[in-house]
Amino acid sequence: MKLQKPKGTQDILPGQSEKWQYVENVARETFKKYNYGEIRTPLFEHYEVISRSVGDTTDIVTKEMYDFYDKGDRHITLRPEGTAPVVRSYVENKLFAPEVQKPVKMYYIGSMFRYERPQAGRLREFHQVGVECFGSSNPATDVETIAMAYQLFTELGIKDVTLHLNSLGNTESRLAYRQALINYLTPLRDSLSKDSQRRLDENPLRVLDSKEKEDKVAVENAPSILDYLDEDSQTHFDAVRSMLEVLNIPYVIDTNMVRGLDYYNHTIFEFITKVDKSELTICAGGRYDGLVEYFDGPTTPGFGFGLGLERLLLILEKQGIELPLEPSLDVYLAVLGDKANSKALELVQAIRHQGFSAERDYLERKIKAQFKSADYFKAKMIITLGESEIEAGQVTLKNNKTRQEITVGFEEINSNFAEIFKTLV
Ligand code: ATP
Ligand code: MG
Repeated sequence: MKLQKPKGTQDILPGQSEKWQYVENVARETFKKYNYGEIRTPLFEHYEVISRSVGDTTDIVTKEMYDFYDKGDRHITLRPEGTAPVVRSYVENKLFAPEVQKPVKMYYIGSMFRYERPQAGRLREFHQVGVECFGSSNPATDVETIAMAYQLFTELGIKDVTLHLNSLGNTESRLAYRQALINYLTPLRDSLSKDSQRRLDENPLRVLDSKEKEDKVAVENAPSILDYLDEDSQTHFDAVRSMLEVLNIPYVIDTNMVRGLDYYNHTIFEFITKVDKSELTICAGGRYDGLVEYFDGPTTPGFGFGLGLERLLLILEKQGIELPLEPSLDVYLAVLGDKANSKALELVQAIRHQGFSAERDYLERKIKAQFKSADYFKAKMIITLGESEIEAGQVTLKNNKTRQEITVGFEEINSNFAEIFKTLV
């Protein structure tokens, strides 16, 4: 049997993983500037943590869940997204308790799982970085969180991302709009896709989100939710818009964007970019003021986003953005003859303990082959160690670029390698 990875998954190999680490580090550093701390929740959750909070009628829950019954007959699902698990954890660990910590800001980086049809930028195991902020209903929080994602794109050098913005208002506004949308869509029912006919009964706002052509045509002249915002919702949305303008963050209003999850209210947003002429969302999020209460916590406003790392890396590649990754090794130790084996071990360890990266030959190869390895690993310095060097108690160190050489005793390498390295490299 030929063993292969499951459909829709990826091995992230050395050579690629450096890019992942780089992007993740930039994200961590950016989030730190906004006073975020990291949270790590389990890769799997009780099915109910996801199902009702994300929404019983959403694609994620109805079609895309990796759920199963474990040996104890518990209904479990691999997590398809990060917000519901973080809210579950926030309530379970009573992170709301101390007032001094407010707002509580947390980010996560990790795998998510959705049973989808794999294609470019769409996998079954994918990775998100996401953030959640609890305890502030201030529109400045909405704007600051959006600005944080925007700063991340800027720091990575990503161009041409467009911020799409909409408001779902509060519950009252949404109910009024829901009825208006039903009134508009009902006469068009037969022209809708099968899925959207079902959505019209179960969750009509979802029709706006459909990617089917016939649905897109049908909703073209749909009423706008922004015409149904009550005073509170309007005030919040106006404040968000004006603060985005204060920060010079360009945006477009997209009234047909409703997001694929049920827990949102007020501000929702997506960052969209073009890849090969088709639009791809890299980052999406919004406000979820009712979610903590839904998990039996105290009334607590929330705001967050999720950002797809595969899509982010895809965009970096498509936009030809070179990440500042210079793979290199400080030292390669060429080893000649069996008698040098143990001394070689001693020397590379001494070098590593003084903070430098070092590799050596383990395979008793010819010297030429060892120098080839040194070049392959982009070694900055080559040290050659053979029997005569051991007898003399000293080795020759060569700058692998300038070919400049110096000879030093073992003692100096053991005690003062930093100094030697600085003079030669
Ligand atoms: P889409 O409309 O593209 O299916 P979504 O609305 O389902 O996206 P969210 O649940 O908002 O996506 O997830 C946030 C981000 O996670 C997306 O913007 C995207 O970058 C990423 N993402 C979602 N699903 C996948 C997937 N199957 N593979 C890779 N990345 C994904
Ligand atoms: Mg989706």
